Amino acid sequence: MEGRKAFGWAARDTSGILSPFSFNLRETGAEDVMLKVLYCGVDHTDLHQMRNEIHSTNYPLVPGHEIVGEVVELGSEVKKFRVGDLVGVGCIVGSCGECSPCQSNMEQYCPNIIPTINGTNKDGSFNRGGFSSAMVVHQRFVVRIPENLAPDQAAPLLCAGVTAYSPLKQFMGSNRVLRAGILGLGGVGHLGVIIAKAMGHHVTVISSSDKKRQEALDILGADAFLVSSNAAEMEGAANSLDYILDTVPAFHPLGSYLSLLTVDGKLIVVAAVPKPLQFDAVDLILGKKAIAGSFIGSMDETQEILEFWAEKGLKSFIEVVKMDYVNKAFERMERNDVRFRFVLDVAGSNLE
Ligand code: NAP
Ligand code: ZN
Repeated sequence: MEGRKAFGWAARDTSGILSPFSFNLRETGAEDVMLKVLYCGVDHTDLHQMRNEIHSTNYPLVPGHEIVGEVVELGSEVKKFRVGDLVGVGCIVGSCGECSPCQSNMEQYCPNIIPTINGTNKDGSFNRGGFSSAMVVHQRFVVRIPENLAPDQAAPLLCAGVTAYSPLKQFMGSNRVLRAGILGLGGVGHLGVIIAKAMGHHVTVISSSDKKRQEALDILGADAFLVSSNAAEMEGAANSLDYILDTVPAFHPLGSYLSLLTVDGKLIVVAAVPKPLQFDAVDLILGKKAIAGSFIGSMDETQEILEFWAEKGLKSFIEVVKMDYVNKAFERMERNDVRFRFVLDVAGSNLE
């Protein structure tokens, strides 16, 4: 690291095309950790933000919020990490610390969260994400990567993994075996299958085509597979699922998915669909069904999913690529041509 400069790749406009970009890191404050970025997952939310589809994006935008790095510098007040530790950072790097969600360890729902990308810190500095050589992050928003977890494997858990894990705890928090539905088998969806299976649930994948059937059943271990456009298959599974994790990032009417839910079933929307979704009231009323939203998970839950993953010896399905492949990776993600998550080898990309 040359002084306090970091080297990354940024989007400059709504085309979302990324190109090399360097910037100054903020000073490492008393409670901050500076990390050298090793790996960073490539999430569909990055694409939404690079194209200014969901929030107003400030350019240049350095994406990346599934970050695994090595601690290289510590603020004077940081006691829980040491230089050399393997750590993770997800979607948020700050919150007010005082509101009710912050006080109840659900800081992701703080009205004043500071996002890892496209967020402004209390000192006015603008955050750059993990598609860069280094970052400075407040210790509260840094988690520890368990020892027996490979750093590239850990990356997708920091956003996609905890996004699939948190709603199971928050909405479905009992010990009974659930009939789970995973709608959309991409980065978040494939981890949703693996996590629900590891918890002992019965998992049905609902996909837009037949292409991933074999992988879903044989490799990820799902119990059933439905093609959403196949009326007979959908009809056959009516009223059977306790919850559906909806990860489809494009417009889709909800009626046919609501019909898959059992009485009291929940459609949990995690996809940040840039257009309003659509449903008929009677599809909710008849069956006491609910549509809920869920945003990543708390810092505690992020640590928990990492430990859970390591304890159970689970494996995410990733394709590791270098930074000069990143535009192609987004193009392939958009074409639904990734099994199932790209992870950037940031440290191996010689950014400096
Ligand atoms: P992804 O890897 O691109 O996966 C999305 C999947 O949705 C695809 O693999 C595809 O699966 C399905 N799909 C159906 N119709 C599609 C269409 N028209 N375009 C693209 N995909 C389509 O995306 P991801 O990274 O998992 O993210 C999924 C969504 O969750 C995004 O909107 C992202 O912003 C959001 N997200 C939210 C949170 C949160 O905290 N709430 C966290 C992470 C991500 P099939 O082939 O099976 O149909
Ligand atoms: Zn708060």
